[in-house]
Formats: sequence, C-alpha cells, structure tokens
Amino acid sequence: MADKGTEPEIKKYKPFQTPKGVHDILPDDYEYHTFLKKVVRHRARQAGFRRISTPIFEYTDLFARSIGEGSDIVSKEMYEFKDKKGRSLTLKPEGTAGVVRSYIQHGMNQLPQPSLLYYFEPHFRYDRPQKGRYRQFWQFGFEVIGESDPALDAQVIQLANKIHGDLGIAELFELQLNTIGTLEARQKYMQTLEDYYVGKERSLCEDCNSRLHKNPLRLLDCKAEDCQILAQLAPVMKDYLDKESIEYHEELISYLDEMGISYTENPKLVRGLDYYSKTVFEFWDKSEGAQNAIGGGGRYDGLVELLGGQPAPAVGYAAGVERLIANMKREKIKVPSKDDLHVFVAQLGTEAKKKCLPLISELHEAGIKAVGALGKGSINIQLRLADKFKVPYAILIGITEVREETAIIRDMSKGIQETVNFDEVAERMVELIGEDNLDLYTPGELVYS
Ligand code: AMP
Repeated sequence: MADKGTEPEIKKYKPFQTPKGVHDILPDDYEYHTFLKKVVRHRARQAGFRRISTPIFEYTDLFARSIGEGSDIVSKEMYEFKDKKGRSLTLKPEGTAGVVRSYIQHGMNQLPQPSLLYYFEPHFRYDRPQKGRYRQFWQFGFEVIGESDPALDAQVIQLANKIHGDLGIAELFELQLNTIGTLEARQKYMQTLEDYYVGKERSLCEDCNSRLHKNPLRLLDCKAEDCQILAQLAPVMKDYLDKESIEYHEELISYLDEMGISYTENPKLVRGLDYYSKTVFEFWDKSEGAQNAIGGGGRYDGLVELLGGQPAPAVGYAAGVERLIANMKREKIKVPSKDDLHVFVAQLGTEAKKKCLPLISELHEAGIKAVGALGKGSINIQLRLADKFKVPYAILIGITEVREETAIIRDMSKGIQETVNFDEVAERMVELIGEDNLDLYTPGELVYS
C-alpha cells in the first residue's frame, strides 16, 4: 500500500509473449507469405484446382480415424479440447482429413471427377518446438479425389516441383519416393514386421517400443542408432507388395522419367499417417535429409470410404510454408514487395492539416500509396520520418502553400522540389510515379488475381 501523501504506486506488468512454439507473422515475413500464396494460387489455377478452406477445428474422431491412433500426431501432438457440451474437438493437425470430410459432406462425388482442391491454412501440432518445427504452422496442399491413376500422382509431384522452382529453391531438395502397396498387402507386411521386432524390444528406443504394436512401419524410419541397425535387417516391404501396386509404381516412374523429374527410391519411406496406400513421397533437404523435409504426400485410396463416403481413390501433397520461406531466405531470395510507399505528406499548421486529409484520400484513389504525418511533429521531424519510410517523394504543405493554394513536391533522392497548384497535385504525382507503378483498385473491374 502507498503511504499517505505519496503517489499510489503504478503496477508494472510484465509484457506478454507468444505461447511456446508459436510466432507472429510480422510484415516483413508477410511479403514472403503473400508471394508464396500467389505462386500456389497461380499454379493451382493453371492446373484446374479450386481453393477450399475447412474449419480450424473438427471432431477429434475425424483425425483419430483417418490419421490413425498409432500415429505420432494422434497419440502425442493433437490440440484436443472439450466444448461446453463435452464434445471432443481438435485443432486441425493436417489438411487432408478435413478436405475429405468436406468432399463427402457436400456430395462432391456428384461433380465431374476427380475433384481438384487446394488449401492454404494454419495447422496445429503439439510438437517439440525447434528450428523449422512449430506448434502453429502454415501448410498448403493439393488433393485430387475421385480417380486413381499413376499419371495423377505424377502430376501432383510435378505441381509441387514447379512451385519449388517458382520459389527458386527446387535445387535444394530431392524427391524421395516409395510405394507402400495396397492396404491388404501393407497389413500382411506390418504383421511380419511386428513378428520380426517382437523379442527385440530391449534394443528399441522408448518411442519404438510404444509404436511396435500400434504402427510397426514407423520403426523403419526411427533415427535412434540401435533402431536403425534393426531396421537395416528387417524384412523389406518390396517382398510383400502386391502385383497391382508394383505395376502402379512402375507406371508412375515412367511418367516421372518422361517429365524429367528426378527422384530417389527410398524403400524405408513410410510417412507417419495411416491413410496412405501405394505412392508415398517427400521432398528432403539434400544436405539435411528428412530433418528438414519441406513437404510430402501420397495416395490415400481408402480414406474416403473410411470416413463414411462412397469409395473414391485420391492423391495429395502438403508443404510447410515456414520451412519454404526459411529456405528462400537461406538462399537470399528476395520477393517483390508491393508495400513500398510512393509518397509522404508533411504539413505545418491546422489549416494545412485540414487540406492534407482530402489530398491523401485523393492520392489513394489515383493509385498512389501515401501516408501523412498527422501527428504534431515539426516539419523537420516529419521529413526525417519520410526518410525512414524510404519514400521517393514528399509533399509539403505549410502556411504559405495554404494561402496560395499550392503544395511542394520534393524528390527525396535528388533533393529538388517543385511547387504545384493544389488541385493538380494528384495528377502530377501520377506522372512522376508512372502509370505502371500505380496501385489501382477499380471496383467493378476488379481483377481476381
Ligand atoms: P507432414 O504431412 O507431417 O509430412 O507435413 C508436411 C510438411 O509440413 C512438412 O514437410 C513440413 O514442411 C511441414 N510441417 C509439418 N509439421 C510442422 C511443424 N510442426 N512446424 C513447421 N512445419 C511443419
């Protein structure tokens, strides 16, 4: 308590920080986000994919059933909570389950098939935060639902490749490819694998011990040294594959060869999610391997039926936005920004300030990106601010200009200035900035770009 006669103490609060594992997307990063989103949208649209957005949360059972109880995601990483009626909900940890739920719920199988859908969304996993691994992260993904053909798998892989190329980082990654066969063949193989590992539990890490009876496939890509030795000697999936899957895979490879897409066959690649069948693939960092994969996908022929729909085969791909951006930055790739301002409007005195607001609005309408110093700083402080904004031009309005109905346009880099009639300022600015550089928004003619 404050003493009588002294000022009451103002409590100083500790500033809040983001919760562990999540981060803000600051304006500088948004330039990358926006660029990436445009690249994805452009490539998606070229190939006939249309955007879909599913809710941030779904019933927990949707993920448990599709991704699988034995997967790391379902067993350890879900943000699960109860709503006020006690229903169990989960923040979406990946995109495919929600898209497939939506495909079924909205009867998309009645539309021309396959349905070509893409998304660009945040996802949530209670992962151990580290470089490139967050608890909220963005993914974009493509899903082709309603048809099975290796040519479709090849096309999805090619789409991913093109996007990596557009971002300037395709050379950093290599495509790892495998087939895990049909569900029946896989179940037979999983049983053999489980039998192989039983009796060797003492050599397995803690994680693998808990996965052994739930998802023995995951033991093959464990990073622990002893587990890797055992995995080397384990029965190989290839020997258990059905003829159909082998032929399917060979056809896929022939398409990839035809398109000049290089790949590494990796018989140990399984992906962590239960719903895959036949084709699985990931893009690995050439220097860091699986640690820094930027994306992955595969075929999931049984998932639509598993979630209650009419059987419909499907293939998809998802990539991590933060990791793609980190790689672009590592490669010092700059993205075009449209945020740069054209002009800063400085004013002196109440009358000048009154003139400023309509002028700034007029500039905006003309497609000129303008901000004004609407605070109380002196003209020098305002001009220093203009320097900080790195604008090519400043407009100055003082008492004289108000009286004479003019404004001064200053070229910031050359340091020269001209006086222009007030009602001709916007027109002159358009000339100086150049029609091609304007940021025009014309409702009615709005281009959906
Ligand atoms: P997955 O389907 O789990 O292989 O995820 C596809 C891609 O999403 C990965 O290759 C990563 O680029 C990205 N990703 C997955 N989990 C995370 C995470 N916790 N933090 C950041 N990116 C992630």
